[in-house]
Amino acid sequence: MTDSVEGPLRLVIFGRQGAGKGTQCTRLVEHFGIAHISTGDMLRASVAAKTDMGLKAKEIMASGGLVGDDIMNGIVRERLESEDANTGGFVLDGFPRTLRQAEALSVILGKRELHAAVNIEVPLDEVTKRMKARGREDDTDEGIARRLDLYEQDTQPVLDWFGARDQLVTVDGFDLEDVVWQRLLTAVKASAGI
Ligand code: AMP
Repeated sequence: MTDSVEGPLRLVIFGRQGAGKGTQCTRLVEHFGIAHISTGDMLRASVAAKTDMGLKAKEIMASGGLVGDDIMNGIVRERLESEDANTGGFVLDGFPRTLRQAEALSVILGKRELHAAVNIEVPLDEVTKRMKARGREDDTDEGIARRLDLYEQDTQPVLDWFGARDQLVTVDGFDLEDVVWQRLLTAVKASAGI
């Protein structure tokens, strides 16, 4: 941990696939000593453990759909009650993905202030290029376009929701990892008043 905030730091992070969100998220977690709350990771763990929820989520995830809001809101509510999230703070990754989730989050947080919803912005043609270069099996041209379209459809309204509340911070992610990290750090510190 390098910087510590007075009181817990609370962040939400957004970014298209291929925008470098995973890497930057890890750096945030290490730098501020906060919890990484990734709903995708939590769901994948439930699938691996074959819990009831995991069994239900498995097909939805495989088809690229979204798991229901009630389930997701419940998972996040419970996770945000844990001690680490309340003492050190957190970065929420993959949630909220719908307006109902965004509204639920503000109810769950109550008086706990959200410092920022950070969007790592990398243009569509650049993330498409990066994903094609990865050469993963599901990275066909159509697959990539479909996932990016879905992200746009689901996430843009949520970004606008945070924007309307003056909580959205956009970081230009079209650069080298270290350059983007410095921008992100500056933006987060400004939002948290550090
Ligand atoms: P991710 O790793 O964030 O891309 O999440 C992987 C998959 O988990 C998504 O494609 C969705 O099927 C599901 N998922 C993760 N987070 C959410 C969420 N907030 N709401 C609904 N489904 C989610």
